[in-house]
Amino acid sequence: MKTYKMSKDRFPEFIELIKTKGQLYGPVKGNGKYSFEEIEKFEDLDFDYQRTVIGPKKFLTPSRYPTLRYDKSGQTDVFVSDEPQIVVGVHPCDIHGINILDRLFLGNIKDPYYEKRRNNLIIIGHSCFPDDNCLCKSTGTDMVEDGFDLFFTELDEYYLVWVGSDKGLSIAIEAEDFLTEEITEEEIQEYVRWQQKRSGMFKSEIPSFKYLADIIHLNYDSKVWEQFGEKCLSCGTCSLVCPTCNCFNVEDRISMNTEDGFRERILDSCTLPCYSMVAGDHDFRPDRTSRLKLYYTHKLKEYIGRWGQPSCVGCGRCVTYCPVDINVITVSEALFEDVCENPEVCDL
Ligand code: SF4
Ligand code: SF4
Repeated sequence: MKTYKMSKDRFPEFIELIKTKGQLYGPVKGNGKYSFEEIEKFEDLDFDYQRTVIGPKKFLTPSRYPTLRYDKSGQTDVFVSDEPQIVVGVHPCDIHGINILDRLFLGNIKDPYYEKRRNNLIIIGHSCFPDDNCLCKSTGTDMVEDGFDLFFTELDEYYLVWVGSDKGLSIAIEAEDFLTEEITEEEIQEYVRWQQKRSGMFKSEIPSFKYLADIIHLNYDSKVWEQFGEKCLSCGTCSLVCPTCNCFNVEDRISMNTEDGFRERILDSCTLPCYSMVAGDHDFRPDRTSRLKLYYTHKLKEYIGRWGQPSCVGCGRCVTYCPVDINVITVSEALFEDVCENPEVCDL
């Protein structure tokens, strides 16, 4: 991987340069929360954040979008335009989230709508420091090696700029006035100290994370699921904010005149009441307990069986936003305590 160095005072000029490449988005603060918004000027950007409410999945699997239009003469697929979307300030956990979406949507059977959006997207990552809800050290997603075009690690006076793709390299070549490949030994040491400092700042972890898949499997009928099911509001917030949740529904919207219509995809959530409703109005997960169990067994167990890693990237959004405190920490803790009455003795 090619690595450059950029003085911090050149960063605004770099942002101006990439703004000429397409629609630019980045982290913006509003009402005390962060979101990825379109950027008019460098001053709008605020890189001092831990998590946006919704991650960059909104560029790839928006909550609602049309896929097909039709009338009596035929049908046409609806794709986004060719204009690139550039998103700056993406953190390692969210880039891992995109890698998981890529695996699902660009595997053996490619999703053409996702593929078009993904090919149009330029991802410029940015380093971060954790807050109390960040869990990415537990999930091994606190660092990232692929899935981005460029990645900026912010040190005191300069950025280390990692190149992750051909698109990223083209941008770096165009920005050569701002970049140098000369990185001194002292600067490497500064980077190592930065890593150590950051690593020491993580305060939260997912309890017994290494053993969770086995615990879920062996204690599949745990009473814990009912306890959480009782509390769950079926609001769907956890799926909306989770960077790896991607289930969608497909609906046809026919005009009142019945002459034409369109088809759209709508983000769905396995925690919502109608998620498992099938033809004939049969609902094979009618209760909150079974839906919540699906959410967590899929993330923390089933995905590992298929892909060798959980589909939780430790972003902490479920910890931050579930209104009744159901999240990867509380669920893991309860599952662990259920199989080990004295967690201090049973110290996995
Ligand atoms: S677990 Fe929390 S966020 Fe998810 S549906 Fe239930 S109440 Fe809502
Ligand atoms: S399960 Fe929670 S912590 Fe894990 S990726 Fe989803 S929102 Fe983030």
